Amino acid sequence: MGKERKEIDRRQFLRKLGLGSGAAMAMMTLEPLSILAADKAEPQVGKSSSNRMTYRVQHGSKEQISLLGFGMMRLPDSQEQVNSLVDYAISHGVNYFDTAPAYKNGRDEAMTGIALSRYPRDSYYIATKMSNQDRRNWTLAAAKSMYEKSFRELQTDYIDYYLLHSVGGGGLEQLQSRFINNGLLDFLLAERKAGRIRHLGFSYHGDVSVFDWLIDHNEQYHWDFVQIQMNYLDWRHASMERGGWKRDADAEYLYNKLNKNGIQCVIMEPLRGGALSRVPQEIASQLRKVRPDDSPAKWAFRWVGSHPNVLTVLSGMNRMEHLEENVKTFSPLETCTEAENVLLAGIADQMSGIPTVPCTTCRYCMPCPFDVDIPGNFAYYNEAVNQHLLPLPVKGSADYEAKRKQFLDGYKKALPNEKNWATTCIGCEACIPKCPQQIRIPNQMDRIIELL
Ligand code: SF4
Ligand code: SF4
Repeated sequence: MGKERKEIDRRQFLRKLGLGSGAAMAMMTLEPLSILAADKAEPQVGKSSSNRMTYRVQHGSKEQISLLGFGMMRLPDSQEQVNSLVDYAISHGVNYFDTAPAYKNGRDEAMTGIALSRYPRDSYYIATKMSNQDRRNWTLAAAKSMYEKSFRELQTDYIDYYLLHSVGGGGLEQLQSRFINNGLLDFLLAERKAGRIRHLGFSYHGDVSVFDWLIDHNEQYHWDFVQIQMNYLDWRHASMERGGWKRDADAEYLYNKLNKNGIQCVIMEPLRGGALSRVPQEIASQLRKVRPDDSPAKWAFRWVGSHPNVLTVLSGMNRMEHLEENVKTFSPLETCTEAENVLLAGIADQMSGIPTVPCTTCRYCMPCPFDVDIPGNFAYYNEAVNQHLLPLPVKGSADYEAKRKQFLDGYKKALPNEKNWATTCIGCEACIPKCPQQIRIPNQMDRIIELL
């Protein structure tokens, strides 16, 4: 019983991560720290009085990483401009710079290296990657050569954050060929042990079975961080169905699984390729009603940054005005309130159309050891979607209570025994492998729990 209680508490906590209170998250957000300056021999970062950047602590090394990370993949062609961007970023507390051999036709690491090497090496953190997507680089010799080149281009003798670049495409078979069977991952693990790589992780795009496999082997690999795509639209509407890949790899699932395993996330695509900075008029006006001065991009950044297991949020900035605006958003980051989270969840639903849960009521997942009526819950939820009961209006609005009551009354009728309610689900995941539709059942249960 004690164990069950713990599970329930954990689940309640996890649930909060998606749509939890801003206050709880704010506790995890560090104020801009002069500690950075105190830690460094020749402090450049954090020295400026204009540095009010929010930092997060990397669990293993305890280093403080700016919550705004500089994605270097869309740099301008001029080195002078790159240097100016880096100067502004560093003087305003940004200390995480993410590059890769694959960016900018192979020139990105060198330009990043030139700009950063003008600063003391211990005043910034470099992230780069093993970009061996091309089959010709699947041999250990070719991959090692790419790895060594990164050090030369970045003018460094250690890399702070090193990633297996873009794992997931091509499924487990490709993962084995690119990293495992050729001995490359063993080599990188040895490099971490030797201190030339300080943190090892991977960036994930694609087949969720690859993500699951890598995380399920965490005892062997001890991932220090994982880079995922996350924004308020992809939280539940990631739509990853392509060429036979498994669907339902929503950011909510990825984030919660990493959190459960104690692995911090680096976030890419916080604006979903810019879509969340150019939202339709009717969406923009809903946002403006609440915060008239904030851009849609600021809303999206605030939502991502409000999640406590996020180490840094990468933004690909190639224009000074974007950098300036983003620095403002994160200096310091104002976490989203519960009402704002609900608003953004509703907006995500509007932008993608509320999806029903693809449950066929086959009942293969039954019985649930905790008595949740899984197909019964999904059948009612889907009916509510189809009858336009969802999304619920924003809490506090005129018709919120009436709509919510209508939803609840229907729910109680459909599931008269409280033991069968979604709230009984403790997230044990016993049902997941039994579902032929590959539905992440506890995640989908969360949708209902929030409404209850
Ligand atoms: S995760 Fe599945 S099996 Fe476990 S309690 Fe929830 S519904 Fe039941
Ligand atoms: S196994 Fe999957 S599809 Fe079948 S009832 Fe359970 S959740 Fe629905």
